[in-house]
Amino acid sequence: MTRTFHAGARFSTPTSQIAEALEQVSIPTLLLTMVHITGDPAFIRDFAQAGLFLNEVQGFMSEEDKARARAAALPAIVEFRDRGCPTPPPLPPALLKEMLDWAAAEPVDDDNMALVLEELDLDGADPRRPAALDPSRAEKFRVIVIGCGESGVLAGLRLRQAGVSFEIIEKNGGPGGTWWENTYPGARVDVANHLYCYSFEPSNHWRHFFAEQPELAAYFDDVMNRHELHSHTRWNTEVLAATWDESTAMWAVTVRSGAGTETLYAHAIISAVGQLNRPNMPDFPGQATFSGPSFHSSAWDHSVDLSGKRVALIGAGASGFQIAPAIADTVDRLDIFQRTAQWMFPNPAYHDAVPDGVRWAMEHLPYYARWYRFLLMWPGADKGLDAARVDPGYTDQDGGTDYAVSEVNALARMMFTDWITTQVGDDPALLEKVLPDYPATGKRTLQDNGSWLSTLRRRNVNLIRTPVREVTPRGVVTEDGLAFDTDVIVYATGFRATEVLTPMTVTGRDAADLHTEWGTRPFAYLGITVPKFPNFFMIYGPGTHLAHGGSLIMHSELEMRYINACIERLVSTGARSMEPLAGPTEAWHRRTQEKIKQTVWAHPSVKHSYFKNPDGEIHTVSPWRLCEYRAALQDPDWSHFHLVEEA
Ligand code: NAP
Repeated sequence: MTRTFHAGARFSTPTSQIAEALEQVSIPTLLLTMVHITGDPAFIRDFAQAGLFLNEVQGFMSEEDKARARAAALPAIVEFRDRGCPTPPPLPPALLKEMLDWAAAEPVDDDNMALVLEELDLDGADPRRPAALDPSRAEKFRVIVIGCGESGVLAGLRLRQAGVSFEIIEKNGGPGGTWWENTYPGARVDVANHLYCYSFEPSNHWRHFFAEQPELAAYFDDVMNRHELHSHTRWNTEVLAATWDESTAMWAVTVRSGAGTETLYAHAIISAVGQLNRPNMPDFPGQATFSGPSFHSSAWDHSVDLSGKRVALIGAGASGFQIAPAIADTVDRLDIFQRTAQWMFPNPAYHDAVPDGVRWAMEHLPYYARWYRFLLMWPGADKGLDAARVDPGYTDQDGGTDYAVSEVNALARMMFTDWITTQVGDDPALLEKVLPDYPATGKRTLQDNGSWLSTLRRRNVNLIRTPVREVTPRGVVTEDGLAFDTDVIVYATGFRATEVLTPMTVTGRDAADLHTEWGTRPFAYLGITVPKFPNFFMIYGPGTHLAHGGSLIMHSELEMRYINACIERLVSTGARSMEPLAGPTEAWHRRTQEKIKQTVWAHPSVKHSYFKNPDGEIHTVSPWRLCEYRAALQDPDWSHFHLVEEA
């Protein structure tokens, strides 16, 4: 598998085949590529994108313009091929800026520039890669990484690059975390894959624009192999507890595996446990009495054959939304119990395979894949925050207090409502059930290509919005007393996302217990470190969940770079430990809370949401623009830390 994502792989593809590929590619991306290949800015100056929008990679260009662009590109690509596909020289900064502005269909501001250039990584330098540390010191510094999902794999490979000793402890039998565990029918990512992958392992070979679970699991395994991480990893081993020993300045980590329980020791811990893996099982009266098979979506029981069965699907958030269309034509009857209707974002290409021509372009046209990533990133990242921010001056124009929180948010509501109404407007009873009663983007907005609503229209599918009262041996009973006899119950009821790092016990300095310190309000300085917990770092910690867009992998990369800098500090100074000071930590938490309260996620009409703790407060989600968060992490402020020097 080649990964020539920067300069492209040399090719001898016949002209007719190149022409076929150009019929399938993203034309704005092609034009940007052509500037690299030819050095001629005319490729962008002679064409204009009409705009850039999430999931629209053709820039709303007319068919006529697209044809003109292909006609201009083809001879230049042929000429490039015949010259032997030389690596294009770097572009002058002013032209690069022009290209960025053109690609974004608006000026790329200074705040975003550093993040964008890092993500584009046009020179292939992997700017977030840590420097190799002095081996005589680094090899003696031992780190335990807890979890081997996207952030644990990342932590491992970055520690390896730095030359630090480490071991990854993973409760599952292989890498991928979410993408290892969630094997339910229809499981796929809902962030476009050419963005949802490491910036330095861009994987141009995705078969789907939004890959299914097996392809994602294979991607993480592939990265593990390429970076030789398997030998650093203990599978099927769960961390039960971690305790800081001040006398040795080491963490004692209790792990349990098939071989029993043992204690491992490390100078530092990186928690990479994710927020979405401890199942949230409801506790309905009679739940245990059900006579048939029942299981949570993340622990799918593949031994249960659903064909011809009556299935009750309890919960229809991101997982249920994918499960129902995937099983509806197999089962005899599908009863979906949905407590809250979901907003969905139109994405007609959600299930589409990546055409061969696009895969060819990714592999061969210089920087095509990089610019394609940009076209996904720019509208898919901080733009979502605009629709999520409450405008205090906004007065509802239409539907009462739950209508919208700003003009942009009202526009999103209109667009989403249109999308739903166009599909089920002729069925007023169904329309009423599927239209949410809270502002758009108030909960995680789901990607939709129409499969959800067309599933709901099937004769064998029934959407029930009345709350569940109890479960009996025969099935599910709703609060109005209606009984739904069923053969199988699937709980797609999500995860205990607000209970960060449970069920581990983490005991820091002076016997401080992390969960006691947090209560129901988990916090961390920059989402990464906590006072009283020396040398304890988190990726995807409190206040870092992305609800507005972007890719969690991007966040993880930024956080891991920061953690690398902390470890470098410890290793190079020979310090025993570091922990953040209370003042800066409280200030960060306070500022984060002020911001989060001004978002639609905190809106009171959003009654149930995995963002909210039992008090209705939000402590796990980031309210920051990606570039703001990057800037906060860019240069660690060591004055915000207590560094204990070697005695
Ligand atoms: P979720 O979005 O939290 O949805 C859980 C569903 O269960 C909701 O419909 C929820 O209703 C319902 N529910 C929970 N407790 C209930 C109870 N006691 N009674 C009745 N209904 C109950 O969880 P998820 O679907 O597993 O997804 C979680 C997150 O995982 C997603 O937001 C996403 O970040 C990630 N995910 C991503 C993908 C993807 O990339 N495509 C796929 C799956 C998951 P309410 O809405 O009323 O709370």
